[in-house]
Amino acid sequence: MEEIKTQAIVLKSSDYKEGGKLLTLFSVDYGLITAKIKGVTKPKSKLAFAAQPLCFGEYILVEKYGYTVINCTSIESFYSLSKDFDKFISASGMLEIVSIIVKEQESNAILFVELLKALKMLEYSNAVPLAVFIKFFIDSLNVAGYKLGLDKCLFCGDNNSQKYKFSFSHGGLACAGCGDANSISLSQGEVAVLKNINMTEMEDLEKLRFIGVENLCSVVKVLNKYFSDKTGEVLKAVKDYI
Ligand SMILES: [Zn+2]
Repeated sequence: MEEIKTQAIVLKSSDYKEGGKLLTLFSVDYGLITAKIKGVTKPKSKLAFAAQPLCFGEYILVEKYGYTVINCTSIESFYSLSKDFDKFISASGMLEIVSIIVKEQESNAILFVELLKALKMLEYSNAVPLAVFIKFFIDSLNVAGYKLGLDKCLFCGDNNSQKYKFSFSHGGLACAGCGDANSISLSQGEVAVLKNINMTEMEDLEKLRFIGVENLCSVVKVLNKYFSDKTGEVLKAVKDYI
């Protein structure tokens, strides 16, 4: 049996027969991989860590009637994010986006690096978790080919309008005089959240301050609708916020 060694992050983990788990891995080399891992719910299992969502490790798999994980070396565990509600929801939302955008046997190294960067921001920085999530959401849409236009009106180029709408058909901002039937009005606060997060690098998100989370939540709602229009899938992890 041929062994595959690859760095991967666990996106999903569900119970599988005889104390095992069925994992959805995001591999830097192979995109999504569905793999079994045996006996990890037993008390003395040495590989229990490798079956936890948010584990980032070097996995060794064999292929025989599907993939099976036979070993794993931990590189970094983001499991502690599950102890903070806001961080956990944001991280779960990011894993869900990846599981929808990335395909099996289709490497997506750009998104892999973006995901690691975003998880590290959640784990180690004081950035607002929902802002990290929104930044990752915008970046993922770009990577998936659904690039958003958020710096000026997509129709006339006006970048100084007092009021903007979000056009779902064009994927971005439309000024008061433009837009189409498939647009919704945005408040100034929502526009500021979208523009500021879009303009700021992931590493600099700590510098952004927000008044409450209301505008962040409504931006998540808008992005989720756009995402659902494009992919046919609605994100479930962030439902508490929207
Ligand atoms: Zn316009």
